[in-house]
Amino acid sequence: NAGANVKVVVRVRAFLPREIKRNAECLIEMDPESQSTTLHPPSSSSSSSSSGTTTTRKVMEPKTFTFDHSYDSHSPPSPTYAAQSHIYDTLGEEFLDHNFEGYHTCIFAYGQTGSGKSYTMMGTPSHPGLIPRTCEDLFSRINEAENECPNISYKVKVSYFEVYNEHVRDLLVAPKIDSSGPYYLKIRESPTEGPYVKDLTEVPVHSLDEILRLMRTGDGNRTVASTKMNDTSSRSHAVFTIMLKQIYHDFETEQTTERSSRIRLVDLAGSERAKSTEATGVRLREGSNINKSLTTLGRVIAALADPKKNNRGGTGVVPYRDSILTWLLKDSLGGNSKTAMIACVGPSDYEETLSTLRYADQAKRIRTRAVVNEDSMT
Ligand code: ADP
Ligand code: MG
Repeated sequence: NAGANVKVVVRVRAFLPREIKRNAECLIEMDPESQSTTLHPPSSSSSSSSSGTTTTRKVMEPKTFTFDHSYDSHSPPSPTYAAQSHIYDTLGEEFLDHNFEGYHTCIFAYGQTGSGKSYTMMGTPSHPGLIPRTCEDLFSRINEAENECPNISYKVKVSYFEVYNEHVRDLLVAPKIDSSGPYYLKIRESPTEGPYVKDLTEVPVHSLDEILRLMRTGDGNRTVASTKMNDTSSRSHAVFTIMLKQIYHDFETEQTTERSSRIRLVDLAGSERAKSTEATGVRLREGSNINKSLTTLGRVIAALADPKKNNRGGTGVVPYRDSILTWLLKDSLGGNSKTAMIACVGPSDYEETLSTLRYADQAKRIRTRAVVNEDSMT
């Protein structure tokens, strides 16, 4: 098994009211033919030299990157506009196919706060994102197969947790605060299954309604703290996991075969640096810990992308265990999983967008080794 590269896509969102208000310009140009994304410098930057200041500014040039997909969700009237359904049809559906083949998958959304990560993963009631669409497609496939084939059955379980301030919290149980402080879960590592969250709630689900209800409950339990940058910005990494077990029974040989796959859908915290939010005090400490998971993610991605250059002096060690997030996502990042990264960008922020596009560009070089997870029993 030679492995496959992480699939990397980029999505640019529409202007927000505050961008329209300040007459922001769209710096992103996408070519549907080559799936490339070009980032243009803001036009005001060229006039900065004539302002009379002596500040030396690096010359900014258009930068072009090519991805597996460049999703233009900037202006709805455009013929190439990528709606929520388009993202599902060109990415989500393929990944669910892999799950039915018996592979683990992971799709994670990366980008600064306000770039469209939650919109892409969760969406809104009227514009559902990848998570609800995956759930819907999953149960429609299950119902169809169970109706048609008497020798197939399915078991589905779901879990939902967040990594917040380097702690793991179960999103499927109501927030618990006892005398010893907030309730956090511990991480363990199993030789066969890898790192996992100990005592995490895993709920068996039997219908689309049930799974969507759990998804909404968990979403409501997500830690939300306001920062100057975005009132409702979430500072947590949220990991929604569906475990799918397919059980085939061969009536002739009396053999039962089980395929188990894990569907992981991750909405990362904002990638912006803590300083740009002018956060202070407690929020700053949260910021630096969020950065710990995100900086470690960056180092893990760098080590996986360029093994010779970036792992601790060529020792082959990838620093998964340096943060909670990377430890838990170890398999998804560099092991038994088919993995995709959705780099979300705003249309008008040159520096942040450039840093996200570079990050995404590096992730393209990562290879994972997914295997079919199958067991036979007689
Ligand atoms: P993040 O989770 O990265 O902080 P959000 O998903 O909350 O960002 O998006 C910020 C705002 O932009 C929200 O109001 C969201 O509804 C809106 N938005 C994001 N992406 C799109 C899009 N593709 N089309 C329309 N609105 C979007
Ligand atoms: Mg969000």
